[in-house]
Amino acid sequence: MSDSSLSNAVKNHGVSRRDFLKFCSLMAGTLALNASFGPKIAKALELPKRTPLVWLEFQDCAGNTEALLRASRPTVSELILDILSVDYHETIMAAAGAQAEKSQKDAIAAGGYILVVEGSIPTAENGIYCTIGGRTAMEILKEASANAIAVVAIGSCAAFGGLPKANPNPTGAVSVLDLVKDKPVLNLPGCPCNPVNLTATVVHFLTFGTLPEMDSQHRPLFAYGARIHDNCPRRGHFDHGEFVAKWGDEGHRKGWCLYKMGCKGPVTFHNCPAVGYNDNTSWPIKAGHGCIGCSEAGFWDLGLYNRANLNEFAPAVAYAPVQQPTQSLSPTTTAIVGAAAGLAIGAAGAAAYTQLSNPDKADQPESAQVEKK
Ligand code: SF4
Repeated sequence: MSDSSLSNAVKNHGVSRRDFLKFCSLMAGTLALNASFGPKIAKALELPKRTPLVWLEFQDCAGNTEALLRASRPTVSELILDILSVDYHETIMAAAGAQAEKSQKDAIAAGGYILVVEGSIPTAENGIYCTIGGRTAMEILKEASANAIAVVAIGSCAAFGGLPKANPNPTGAVSVLDLVKDKPVLNLPGCPCNPVNLTATVVHFLTFGTLPEMDSQHRPLFAYGARIHDNCPRRGHFDHGEFVAKWGDEGHRKGWCLYKMGCKGPVTFHNCPAVGYNDNTSWPIKAGHGCIGCSEAGFWDLGLYNRANLNEFAPAVAYAPVQQPTQSLSPTTTAIVGAAAGLAIGAAGAAAYTQLSNPDKADQPESAQVEKK
């Protein structure tokens, strides 16, 4: 094993071999691969290669960079990204001014890097709303993407235009995908993007030499393939018609469903319930606030506290029962239990869906629903 391998470099940062292998298994799980891929990932990370990252920031708040840096302790994934040779990152690099400009030029000229772009790109007035070193973001992106192996648009601004693109979009902000047409582009939306998903994307690239499989919006399926609502710990309360009606009410204290407070979980695809934020400490719904739909295009224009349109997904009655019988029963008993459960759960689900699908009705009986136990 070469001394320059990632696993050795990780070891030099004080991470044990055991933790390194645990990290590889965790990455296999995050990428929705079975456990046998853990050793394969470890093998790939042990190869003496370094994939450089060039990280550009345009019209953004640096939230994705902050998310990457703001862990309470160094984690293996942070070290991996550190070790991956971030050849240019204007926010965290020591160089400034002309020196920084030279670093950017050198990194781009060397080529063979993954280009990570944070922030949207303003196009109004020929892009003058974001200029760095006298050049517009449009020009810099064109030059930097030309020599990249692949482009990762990190955060909702780079992936979909984000807040700058929200109505009335005064700067003519667009996403990376709107401008880069000749390179593979992967979107990692989120406000901010979860660093775990960036790490897993990079690990996938190092292990398989390709970007992970994507959905129609160029989001990797391992992270954006499932609806938050389908994996939400409050889902049972939704199905039983138990909703928070007011911040701090009894339902809120008991951890009931946040749909009526504007939760966009029913129309949002993201792996927050599985990986959480800040070393999986928490995520919005766990912390008591509804999902704001930050991994979906145009979420700023949805209105944070407006209710999601339930007609956009299958009604609750179509879901499988929450509880299945765990003991084997005779066919007759199974039929009776199944019919009874179907009636009970179907009725509850139908009641919740019918009520919520009808805005007039949904506004009337909140107190009755909150009192329901
Ligand atoms: S509406 Fe939101 S809080 Fe309620 S179950 Fe769905 S995702 Fe969870």
